[in-house]
Amino acid sequence: MNAGALFQRAATYAAEFRRSVADRAQRPAHDYAQSVAVFSEELPEHGSPADSVLDTLIAKAEPGLHMPTGPRFFGWVMGGSHPAGVAADFLTSAWGQNAGNHVVAPSAAAVEAIAARWLLELLDLPRESSVGFVTGATLANFTCLAAARGEVLRAVDWDVDKQGLFGAPQITVVIGDDAHTTVFSALQFLGLGHDRVLRVATDDQGRMRPAAFSEAFRSVRGPAIAILQAGQINTGDCDDFATLVPIAKSQGAWVHVDGAFGLWAQASPQRRSLTTGAGLADSWATDGHKWLQTPYDCGYAIVRNEMAHRRAMSIAASYLPLPAEGERDPSHYVPELSRRARGFPTWSMIKHLGRDGIAALIDQNCDAAGDLAGRLDAEPGIEIINRVVLNQVIVRFGSGLGDDDADDLTKRTIARLQKDGTAFAAGALWRGRHVMRLSFSNYQTDATQVEIAARAIIEAYRNVRREGGIP
Ligand SMILES: *Cc1c(COP(=O)(O)O)cnc(C)c1O
Repeated sequence: MNAGALFQRAATYAAEFRRSVADRAQRPAHDYAQSVAVFSEELPEHGSPADSVLDTLIAKAEPGLHMPTGPRFFGWVMGGSHPAGVAADFLTSAWGQNAGNHVVAPSAAAVEAIAARWLLELLDLPRESSVGFVTGATLANFTCLAAARGEVLRAVDWDVDKQGLFGAPQITVVIGDDAHTTVFSALQFLGLGHDRVLRVATDDQGRMRPAAFSEAFRSVRGPAIAILQAGQINTGDCDDFATLVPIAKSQGAWVHVDGAFGLWAQASPQRRSLTTGAGLADSWATDGHKWLQTPYDCGYAIVRNEMAHRRAMSIAASYLPLPAEGERDPSHYVPELSRRARGFPTWSMIKHLGRDGIAALIDQNCDAAGDLAGRLDAEPGIEIINRVVLNQVIVRFGSGLGDDDADDLTKRTIARLQKDGTAFAAGALWRGRHVMRLSFSNYQTDATQVEIAARAIIEAYRNVRREGGIP
C-alpha cells in the first residue's frame, strides 16, 4: 500500500473516531491488564504490510483508549486535542522535521519564534522573555527551575553549569504545601531534592498563606527560589501573586510560577483578576496540551531572562550572542536536541482560535464548571468543597453522614459513574478526605454537556445511596 492510501486510511479512521466520541462510553472498555493481554505477542520475526499493521493497531488499541477527546470527560486536566491541532500534528509527523536547529529546519524554528511571541501576548508575560517548547509542564518546570538554579548561584559567583552542585552554596526552595507533584519531580531531577524545601502552609483553596510565606522568607539567607502556582489541581485557585512575588523579590529570590493550566486565566479578560501579578515573576511553566487544546505533547518553559534560560539549557549557547531575528535555535531553550516540531500545532491552534476564541474557550469551560457545581449543589447530600473560581470542582457525597461514610459513598459514586460511562470523573484526596474531582478543559464541554453530565452524576449518587439503604 502506498503512503497516500495509508495516510487516507488513518485520517478516515481518525475522523470517524472523533465523530463518534461523544456517543461512546467516556472511559476505556479495557483496563491495563486486558490491554497488555491484547497486545501481548512474541517479537515478530517477519514484517507485515503497513495497512494491516494499521488495522491491527486500531483493533488492539481502541478498547483501551480513554476519552479525553470526549465532551463529558472530567477526569484530569488533559485538554481535548482539537482537530485543528491534530491535523497540524499529522503534518508535523509527515514532514519529519528535526526542530533542533534553524538551519536544519527553518520553518519549524520560525514557527516557534512566532508562536513564542504570540504566547507571551496571550498570557501577557514580559515580551522580552524566551520560550522553550517542551513536552509538557513537568519539563517546563524543570527547564525554568534549571535557569533559576543557575542564576541564583551565579549571583554568589558559583557557575553551576560548569561545576555542578558539589560544594555549591545552598539554595533555599520555598514552595506551597499544595504544589503539583511534578514540581517536586523537577526539583528531584535538578539535584535540589524534593524534600529539601521550605513548605508553606496553604488555605482552604490550596493557596499559600501570605503570612506563612513571609515567615518562611525570614529565615532565608543566600540564594533562594520561590515556587508559586496558578491553578491548584483540586481547587483551580491561584496564589496571590501581587502579594507574594514582591515579598520573595525583596529577598533576592527567583520567582517561578507553575501555571500548567491556570496561567491561561491571563488570556481571559473575565478571569484575569485571578492571576493578577503573575507577570512579576521570573519564569513560568505552562501547557499547550491542556487548555490550548494542542495534541500531546506540548508545553512551554518561559523565562524572563533569556540568557539565564540559554545558559541552563545548552553548553554552547551561553557563549554565543543572543540570536538575531530569524536565527533562533529551538534547542537552546529545552533539554533535548532532536525533537518534533511542536511549534506547528501551537501556531495552528492560536491561529485557529485567535485571541478572542481562546478567551471564549477558557470562559466556556469555567462557566461550565460553575454550572455543574450549581446543579450538583442543588441535590440534597451533595456538597461542593471548593469555591469554583476557574475550571476545577471537587465534590463530596453524603454530607450529613459521618466522614468515613461520606468517603465510602463518594468512592462508590465515582465507581458507579465510571461504570455507567455517560461522563467520567476520577477521585482525589483533599484534606485527607475522598472527593470526586471534575476538571474542565475540553473545547466541546459546554452547557448542554453539563446538563447530561449532571444528570448522570446525580443518578449515580442516588443509586448508590439507595443500594446502601441510606434514606
Ligand atoms: C498537569 C500539571 C503539571 C504537569 O504537567 P504535564 O503537562 O503533565 O507535564 C504540573 N503542574 C500542574 C499544576 C498541572 O496541572
